[in-house]
Amino acid sequence: MIEFDNVSKVYGGHPAVTDLNLSIGQGEFVVLIGPSGSGKSTTLRMINRLVEHDRGRIRFAGREIRDFKPEDLRRRMGYAIQSVGLFPHWTVEKNIATVPRLLAWPKDKIRARVHELLELLQLPHAEFAKRYPHELSGGQQQRVGVARALAADPEILLMDEPFGALDPVTRIVMQRELKRIHALAGKTIVMVTHDIDEALFLASRVVLLKDGQIVQDGTPLELFSHP
Ligand code: ADP
Ligand code: ADP
Repeated sequence: MIEFDNVSKVYGGHPAVTDLNLSIGQGEFVVLIGPSGSGKSTTLRMINRLVEHDRGRIRFAGREIRDFKPEDLRRRMGYAIQSVGLFPHWTVEKNIATVPRLLAWPKDKIRARVHELLELLQLPHAEFAKRYPHELSGGQQQRVGVARALAADPEILLMDEPFGALDPVTRIVMQRELKRIHALAGKTIVMVTHDIDEALFLASRVVLLKDGQIVQDGTPLELFSHP
């Protein structure tokens, strides 16, 4: 589904990712872990071309990602990040509907999908749909960001610390929800986290990065039983 072939990225002379080889199959739940600055976010963002790689090749569904328009990639890959980046002048409803609107879904279908997602993420529709981002807590904004990433039922979910701003209880609820979505829909998920417990709970595969290179790659059990 996603294939990195000797991929490198350098920012102004400073290598962020070096000769990365990684092949992610359909339905895998891959969690990228590693110290701050080890290249996790860069790796994730190269997949949807928010960051352009310098060397090597990245393929998605058998084609080089450079052959896709970035907008097309981003419609097919949901993306949720810690610092959510909602559009401030749009309501919650309109933010969640971003990709469905781009895809020109019928209004009724969009409305139903927004309703379903808000309820799923424990933000009752009647209370939250018409609010603006500044009328939400940080944790609520983050959940709206996750809803936006899920809205058009993308083939791939890319998530960068998506639950970082949540209180511990909501975090656990959201982790369970994501695990359920993964199990039910068989989606391919690539997620960055600092939280080892989160990685253990969610991942089918854990990739440990250090200084822009993969130092371990295996199931949670393999990773933590051979330190
Ligand atoms: P992680 O997600 O593991 O914290 P990143 O991928 O964000 O790591 O960063 C990897 C390295 O690249 C770090 O040294 C970071 O400082 C650097 N870096 C990341 N983004 C940029 C950028 N936009 N410009 C310059 N350097 C960057
Ligand atoms: P959280 O624990 O999720 O971070 P907060 O303590 O920040 O929540 O907020 C508590 C409640 O106050 C939430 O239900 C949220 O909807 C509401 N709230 C927070 N900020 C605003 C705001 N600017 N306008 C309206 N309601 C708000």
